Amino acid sequence: MNPLENSEHNFQYILENYKEICYNVENAKVKYSKSGADVSIMAVTKTVEPEKINFAVSQGIKLLGEFMSKKDMYDKSAQVHFIGHLQTNKVKYIINDVALIQSVDSVKLASEINRLAAKNSKVMDVLVEVNVGDEASKSGVAFEECIGLVKDISALDNVHIKGLMAIPPIGCGEDIFEKMHELYLKIGEMQIKGVDMDILSMGMSGDYELAIKHGSNLVRIGTKLFGARKYFGG
Ligand SMILES: *Cc1c(COP(=O)(O)O)cnc(C)c1O
Repeated sequence: MNPLENSEHNFQYILENYKEICYNVENAKVKYSKSGADVSIMAVTKTVEPEKINFAVSQGIKLLGEFMSKKDMYDKSAQVHFIGHLQTNKVKYIINDVALIQSVDSVKLASEINRLAAKNSKVMDVLVEVNVGDEASKSGVAFEECIGLVKDISALDNVHIKGLMAIPPIGCGEDIFEKMHELYLKIGEMQIKGVDMDILSMGMSGDYELAIKHGSNLVRIGTKLFGARKYFGG
């Protein structure tokens, strides 16, 4: 049997899931978005096998969210963002493999990204991750400290802030999502040199429609696309 035919058959559920997500995203946009702005759908790869990820890319997924760099295994047409907690001493392993780092939450981390980006003669796009639910277990800068951090990072020549990322607590109120949206708009209005608020990365399998309602234009989907995953301790 043609192995490709076989695998495409097995992966058909991913296509069905993707269609459903696209449909829901379109509906949420029509319902809530005044500007009709586009919403990017990111496939979060975690422990998902590369064959499944490549299948999703072949069906139209253009953006992948990574925790470790497995980029060599992928279809190179997809853009890869780093979305996991990033230790300063690990930046060197991913700096040349990803288009954007979504999880910058300290000056120390941003400075290391800046140093390595400069060394590689490039400017690294990043999002600042905000711990909007003020959860002890989550990374991200404290909500109240976000603007200060954005200003500090804006002084680094080889790091370019393109927006904010957040993981609202499971089951939290809509006010948390809106709080994040307001912060995003506020920083945009401040017109800080070298800072753009183009991306608000918020919303996962369980809350992406709600996130779009509150201004998200990048939703990060794992489970709803690929199915329940094996335990992932990251
Ligand atoms: C796992 C994860 C996701 C996707 O979560 P699902 O609920 O499986 O869609 C999105 N963003 C981050 C940062 C994650 O760790």
